[in-house]
Amino acid sequence: SRVGYAVVGLGHLSLENILPAFGECRKSKLVALVSGNPQKLQKVAQQYGVKPQNCYNYDTYDQLKDNPEVQVIYIVLPNAMHAEYTIRGAQAGKHILSEKPMAANSEQAQAMIDACNKAGRKLMVAYRIQYEPYNRYVREQVRQKLYGAPKYLELHNAQQEANPNHWRHIRALAGGGALPDIGLYCLNTARFLLGEEPTEVFAYQYSTPGNPLFREVEELVSWQMRFPSGVIANCGTDYFTHESRRYRVLAERGWLNVENAFAYNGLQMQQAYAVGQTEHRDEIEIMEKNQFATEMDHFSDCIQQNKQPFTPGEEGLQDHRIMEAIYQSAQEGRPVKLPLYTKLDPFR
Ligand code: NAD
Repeated sequence: SRVGYAVVGLGHLSLENILPAFGECRKSKLVALVSGNPQKLQKVAQQYGVKPQNCYNYDTYDQLKDNPEVQVIYIVLPNAMHAEYTIRGAQAGKHILSEKPMAANSEQAQAMIDACNKAGRKLMVAYRIQYEPYNRYVREQVRQKLYGAPKYLELHNAQQEANPNHWRHIRALAGGGALPDIGLYCLNTARFLLGEEPTEVFAYQYSTPGNPLFREVEELVSWQMRFPSGVIANCGTDYFTHESRRYRVLAERGWLNVENAFAYNGLQMQQAYAVGQTEHRDEIEIMEKNQFATEMDHFSDCIQQNKQPFTPGEEGLQDHRIMEAIYQSAQEGRPVKLPLYTKLDPFR
């Protein structure tokens, strides 16, 4: 049987990606919805065949505890609301899947982990890249040192935002600007590909003066991370330049380049490598999967088999600690060392 999900928040990501993805799931099914907009709730419930008694608003949310059809609550709200709805959801006895970034800061992330532990419920952060076949292929090649040990990573995620009144531009709801929203992909993917944790970061930050989009949150962050193996990752993110979501992993005898690396689909990969004196370049094609269905089914599997999710709350907490060090570095104009955190088994 399939694991029942309640989806909280009917914004763009839910309506355009998550709800349709249930149609491609094998272990997960949509059974309940939570929204503050009654008209939208009714319309979406009808469209997806969700029963009227399984429709909730933010005030009736805690009554999910009396609904045995719901095993997982999937939180798709503005970042600073993830903590409250995770904690209330765990208290209602449900497992929690939280959208990224996990929270607005590391303190909230820790409170989410504590609440789920206390309630004996599982917590997963929706890092879909870690379930996506191209990115998993790159990680496997890094692990096997296909072209020798990697030395350098370059990652960039840029996306244009237009509305200064959207929650993404309000610090109290977003927690930050380009960094936690889209720069997080560079950070989390670098850690995922290398299977190790950075020991030091150095960052610059910029916001165009007078631009209402960047009154409260930053426009651009450029940062470097040093890893224990010696690898340096050079990362950048911004809300200004033409969309670009790419990275390159450079090793002694070759490189892998991924375009649209953080996109929902349309990923493209090129490799270059030397055999003797001959340089080869080619395209690598991998069958795409619906990333949202894959990650939901992973969580459902963990619940059915009582296993730890591949991207548990600790994974989100770690990103928040590193982002805080990145902001600190940009503010102080000097590198910031990170304490040695115990890495979750990188190849778990
Ligand atoms: P959105 O603005 O489209 O939707 C947010 C929803 O929250 C809206 O339906 C809004 O009505 C509701 N909401 C409830 N209380 C609110 C309040 N006080 N202020 C503003 N909105 C409120 O945003 P989105 O793009 O769907 O993002 C939702 C979450 O999903 C965010 O955490 C975001 O980072 C994450 N996200 C993840 C991905 C991914 O690829 N995994 C992609 C996009 C967004």
